[in-house]
Amino acid sequence: MSITSTNPATGQQLKTFSALSNEILQIKILEADRAFQKYRQTTWAQRSAWLHRAAELLRDEQQSLAWAKLMTLEMGKPIEQAIAEVQKCASVCEYYADHGAEFLAPEKCSTDASESWLEYQPLGAILAVMPWNFPFWQVFRFAAPTLMAGNVALLKHASNVPQCAITIEEIFLKAGFPPGVFQTLLISAPQVELVISAPQVKAATLTGSEPAGISLAQAAGKVLKKTVLELGGSDPFIVTTSADLDEAVAVAVKARMLNNGQSCIAAKRFIVVESIAAAFTSKFVQAFSQLQIGDPLDKQTNVGPLATLAGCAEIDRQVQASITGGAECLIGGKKWSELPGYFYEPTILKNIPPTCATYRDEFFGPVALLFTVSDLDEAIALANDSPFGLGASAWTQDAAEQQRLIRELESGAVFINGMVKSDPRLPFGGIKRSGYGRELGRPGILEFVNIKTIWVK
Ligand code: NAP
Repeated sequence: MSITSTNPATGQQLKTFSALSNEILQIKILEADRAFQKYRQTTWAQRSAWLHRAAELLRDEQQSLAWAKLMTLEMGKPIEQAIAEVQKCASVCEYYADHGAEFLAPEKCSTDASESWLEYQPLGAILAVMPWNFPFWQVFRFAAPTLMAGNVALLKHASNVPQCAITIEEIFLKAGFPPGVFQTLLISAPQVELVISAPQVKAATLTGSEPAGISLAQAAGKVLKKTVLELGGSDPFIVTTSADLDEAVAVAVKARMLNNGQSCIAAKRFIVVESIAAAFTSKFVQAFSQLQIGDPLDKQTNVGPLATLAGCAEIDRQVQASITGGAECLIGGKKWSELPGYFYEPTILKNIPPTCATYRDEFFGPVALLFTVSDLDEAIALANDSPFGLGASAWTQDAAEQQRLIRELESGAVFINGMVKSDPRLPFGGIKRSGYGRELGRPGILEFVNIKTIWVK
């Protein structure tokens, strides 16, 4: 099988690679295990120094621009966002370099022993199956805590970003991590089962779609290995009467359009109470009409292409099905064809009926679903009427409303008067069909360690 890098802004193929044979794959897994036997003996100070060096490389202005361009070329994100993504990768390396030792330090427990405590010890090789939408950030937020904890990493990246995948391995090697500690595996999705079932591989994490998550969890379940899953989302963005409307609209547009609309935690369903619905809607439509679509390498561009031809076709299918099913299209609703790539017009669909087949879908592109509700009860009920539960954003100045939203919204995170975002300092993850387990923060580094209980008399 071949793995191809295609520029979604032009449809032109950039580079093609052959997938690893199963024999080479096996050799790489053994190499990971050999590397682990030595790497597990390294100190936190040494791992921290390597992570700091990786951060320095990522912060180098010229280098980081080249890596940002690579992301934009392979998957189409606007260049400014790609530059910011490289910087964010540096910040997660620094965060775990600075706090890893404190997170992993032994913890005393008072029991009937003379002394008892917990130790956090590495497990071995951890497999990461990653998506293309944040080709650097998704990998670094897995790798920084995993390597700090003393594990070694095997990356199966999405098939459309092979050059990013290869580059990330080079960065870790250049930072000084020993060979075999971080390896990119250019493999196809069906080869993932071979990796997770290898005895040297101890656990796996996947960020991606529900079918991919189910497939990995099944394969891991057969061999009793732990998984962390970060899957899809259809996050609500609730706006109530007391919200600062101008700020809410500005953030709503940003939250929906980030990464050309292809973010798991993008706000996807905008739920607005009736009293402010007309004002919100007219400002929202107006802001969408001003977005610049075009070449993602141009700094003026707000919305670039979708990453793949299939993704562009799928979003159009969902939009047309929603309109046929009773939604009103306020703006957009079709492909944008002034350039040859996979572009889609920023689109707002109002009041998709619950009976429509797309009502509970995740829309992975520049399409906002707008709903009006009579009050907060209805807003919360609608927000929770979703198979997903990743991160909710709610806009209100009313303290009692804030408390209700925090308590009642079914999601892994609630952001009040702000956009849902990932941050190395805050645990990240979902409930319901958005997955399980957490990345980032202290919980993130504790997902792939042996929490060993020690009892001494
Ligand atoms: P995807 O098709 O599931 O791909 C993600 C990764 O899984 C890729 O590396 C892919 O490899 C691999 N994969 C696909 N099918 C597989 C299988 N049956 N077994 C093992 N691996 C498999 O996802 P996508 O469409 O590229 O990404 C979009 C989805 O990811 C959205 O639902 C989005 O919400 C979600 N996402 C979630 C988060 C989060 O943190 N919760 C973050 C970003 C994205 P190939 O490329 O070779 O198929």
